[in-house]
Amino acid sequence: MSKITIAIDGFSSTGKSTIAKQLANKLHYVYVDSGSMYRAVTLYAMQLEYISKNYFLKEKLVEDLVNIELRFKYRDDLGYAEIYLNGVNVEKKIRTLEVSNFVSKIAEIPEVRRKLVEQQQEMGKDKGVVMDGRDIGTVVFPNAELKLFITASAEIRAKRRFDELIKRGDKVTFEAIYNNVVERDRIDSTREDSPLIKADDAIEIDNSNLSLEEQFEKIYAIVQSKLNAN
Ligand code: C5P
Repeated sequence: MSKITIAIDGFSSTGKSTIAKQLANKLHYVYVDSGSMYRAVTLYAMQLEYISKNYFLKEKLVEDLVNIELRFKYRDDLGYAEIYLNGVNVEKKIRTLEVSNFVSKIAEIPEVRRKLVEQQQEMGKDKGVVMDGRDIGTVVFPNAELKLFITASAEIRAKRRFDELIKRGDKVTFEAIYNNVVERDRIDSTREDSPLIKADDAIEIDNSNLSLEEQFEKIYAIVQSKLNAN
């Protein structure tokens, strides 16, 4: 059976990466979390003090982009790849609320997007890839055979993210998470370069009231019909 490209887009914390990982494992496809790349660039900008609550040295970051090297290394025990920033595993560090609070500002920068999109297209050039993000079906792989657009209410998304961070031991409030989710949606949907929008040919799935199993069953049935038609 020939391999296809699966693009999964949608709002923050809709569980896109959970679905993408499940599909990639089931199909033996490569999974790429494009958000982790924007998060890693954000972490770099924070480490170099290009961005803080009070200032943003955008030009400095753009000049320094050539010195950022991102790589994914697959982990057999986890069943997915972890991201490395200049040789250092940053998988855990990029998931903090602090990074989440800056990432959409970094992702607005056209030079950042150009660099990351190029790398994403290279990773998906042989198909057999499941990639999740905000512009995968519209910009990265406009010809993807299957495009999904995932939604859920902001309250439900914030609750899921809150539970996840608390489980990890992070000290966060529900309100802070809720505000972050809503603010990222706002910036991601209104930015000039590659805003978050549903591709015309994407299938929309609202998972507010679906369990993980129900969601997987529903999506896997769609994937199967695409694979058979391909
Ligand atoms: O998917 P995740 O929530 O980890 O993405 C973090 C942020 O990275 C998003 O809020 C968005 O600003 C940015 N992003 C993007 N384009 C993508 C993936 C993520 O702009 N393809």
